[in-house]
Amino acid sequence: MIDQFGRSITYLRVSVTELCNLRCRYCMPAEGVCKKDHADMLTEDEMILAIEAAASLGITKLRVTGGEPLVKKNILSICRRAAAVPGIREVCLTTNGILLPELARPLREAGVNRLNLSLDTQDPEKYAYITRIGEIKDFWAGFYAALDAGFEKIKLNAVLVGGFNDNEIVSLAALTQQYPVDMRFIEMMPMCDSPEFGEDAYIPFTRVLDALPEARPVPKDGGVAKLYRLPGAKGNIGLISPVSAHFCGECNRIRLTADGKVKPCLHSNAEYPLKGLDLDGMRAQLEKAIWHKPKWHGDLDAAHRSGAGRNMNQIGG
Ligand code: SAM
Ligand code: SF4
Repeated sequence: MIDQFGRSITYLRVSVTELCNLRCRYCMPAEGVCKKDHADMLTEDEMILAIEAAASLGITKLRVTGGEPLVKKNILSICRRAAAVPGIREVCLTTNGILLPELARPLREAGVNRLNLSLDTQDPEKYAYITRIGEIKDFWAGFYAALDAGFEKIKLNAVLVGGFNDNEIVSLAALTQQYPVDMRFIEMMPMCDSPEFGEDAYIPFTRVLDALPEARPVPKDGGVAKLYRLPGAKGNIGLISPVSAHFCGECNRIRLTADGKVKPCLHSNAEYPLKGLDLDGMRAQLEKAIWHKPKWHGDLDAAHRSGAGRNMNQIGG
């Protein structure tokens, strides 16, 4: 479906849970999330119905996310059923990787085509700091399991945090020379509960290019990342700049939260509830959400926090 600004909306990000086995500082509060009433969350059948309604409006690509999607007990069934919805051509999943040793192969068999894994630092102490409770050895075990399982593409995501990992740009980028993976650097977005990051924490993607003078531009792959490649690399460097150079004009995505709200824009508090509706009702809400997708998300920086009204784990980053 085309929105009122002429953008073709083909990509749905489905958050299957707000819960997580980590507590990344830019994403969620230290105490975790206040568990919502089970009855307020979408059931598996409702998620699949919503995906069917979205596919009937032209959605072809899904990203399963969260929270941490792999802590969801029925994640394999959700992925298998989502991949089988007519019109859905691609199912991707974003994870912190911790549970991949058990789940990488079953996810591949369930029809997940691509995986994104989050890795902000290669330093064990810094990993423990940024995730508050994580151990980096668990990430690496998950990463190797993902490589072994034969996904079409694996992308690593690092949130750029000034004063934290800007001195690791070169070593993170070098992972593309060592492994057949893309390494993407994402500008940190100022979500509601991340006041600990001051102005200096928001660094622009151009810092990555300054650190990698030998990187050469390569054509985009249909996503929003600007792509570069290092000499001899097996994968690309991706730069995602929601803060310093927004890409709202080419945004083709909408989001569905675990509690059943369609969010046409990550940084707007506009939400269209689907919980309890039948296929036609969901379709009508999705049509409204797509038509009213905001033109752009407004300024974002330390002084202008996101208008999302939720933390990232409650939306689906
Ligand atoms: N738990 C999974 C993971 O970490 O990959 C999936 C959900 S997480 C919310 C999805 C992505 O959002 C991660 O790559 C994470 O780094 C990113 N993210 C979370 N908070 C962010 C923020 N404030 N700014 C930019 N990216 C953020
Ligand atoms: Fe969990 Fe992902 Fe948020 Fe980290 S970024 S707290 S792993 S949902």
